[in-house]
Amino acid sequence: MYKKFIWIVTCLMLLVFAFTLNDNAFGAGSGGTDVSFWFYNWTGFDTGANISQIKDNISQIKVFEKFNSEGLLTQVLFDHYDSNGNFVKGLASNGTPIFKFNNSDEPRSIVIAGTHGNEYPSEAAAFKLINTLYENKYKIKGTIYVIPMSNPKAALEVQREYFGYDPNRVANNSSTFSGHIVNEVVLKENVSYVGDFHTMYDTRLKLIFAASGYPKSEKISKVIADKTNSEYYLSPNKGTITVTCAEHNLSSFTAEVEDGNNYGIILPNRDQWSYEQMLAYLDYTQNYVEDSNNRNSSGFGANSDLSDVGHDFVSNTFPISRTGFPLLFLLFLLFLLICGFYSWNKNNK
Ligand SMILES: [Zn+2]
Repeated sequence: MYKKFIWIVTCLMLLVFAFTLNDNAFGAGSGGTDVSFWFYNWTGFDTGANISQIKDNISQIKVFEKFNSEGLLTQVLFDHYDSNGNFVKGLASNGTPIFKFNNSDEPRSIVIAGTHGNEYPSEAAAFKLINTLYENKYKIKGTIYVIPMSNPKAALEVQREYFGYDPNRVANNSSTFSGHIVNEVVLKENVSYVGDFHTMYDTRLKLIFAASGYPKSEKISKVIADKTNSEYYLSPNKGTITVTCAEHNLSSFTAEVEDGNNYGIILPNRDQWSYEQMLAYLDYTQNYVEDSNNRNSSGFGANSDLSDVGHDFVSNTFPISRTGFPLLFLLFLLFLLICGFYSWNKNNK
């Protein structure tokens, strides 16, 4: 009887340990933070990306070197595996990846970069943000979406536009790809906060544009401008992602950093400025509050921790939970417990 008691207590302790592991290893809070990426196929659009051609060209784009080769960019855009483990061509051929960090329902925010393909600082900043969020996912609250390269062909060919129109003037038209971002991602996913990140050729270094006449947009824009020493302006342009989202009563803004009309390179600090605008935004929404003394100002950090994300991808399946392993572990312990009881009873007959 004494032995049986010890066995039960041991098993219970193991189960408690496994539950603890489940929480701690995969983020804060009761459920942890799920990190997934899904692939948005712009309905009716072909991104026009010739994978093999672009993959050759990308090595010439110094900005993305950190993400090339075995890095995140290559895995997400070019190399991934379907649910059967077969290598398939990259995602940029007919859509673009959207990253989702989910801890709880609210607040729901989105970071969009690369609507104008050749505005590299914000795209590089978005990749850096993805790495930061992944490494610090226990600090995430609510739901954060990141589209790091919303116009992949234009980005990879160093062009502003691809579809024959300025995508940031036609977001109010649902048949355009920027209109799809608003309708099929922002509105369908019930996103409340929208940050659209760009670069510009201007005498001013950092700008935050609000949708003029929309209080929510003006409020968030003023706060982020203030936090990042960016100048605050009202946008005169209709059909921008920001104005279109403001018309849907969302808190939206456009962030700009000056890039000296330099495409294909990033001037010093521009990626960092854009990244800081993103952090100030997610701080405002309370999605991600970073310790000020923990801020990494050294440009790109190691992105190797995210290198396994691509292999988790199951084609067009969303979301992909990263809590699968601890759950399996729990089931295994339960199995051990049952086996233990069975053999103990058998031995004592
Ligand atoms: Zn732009």
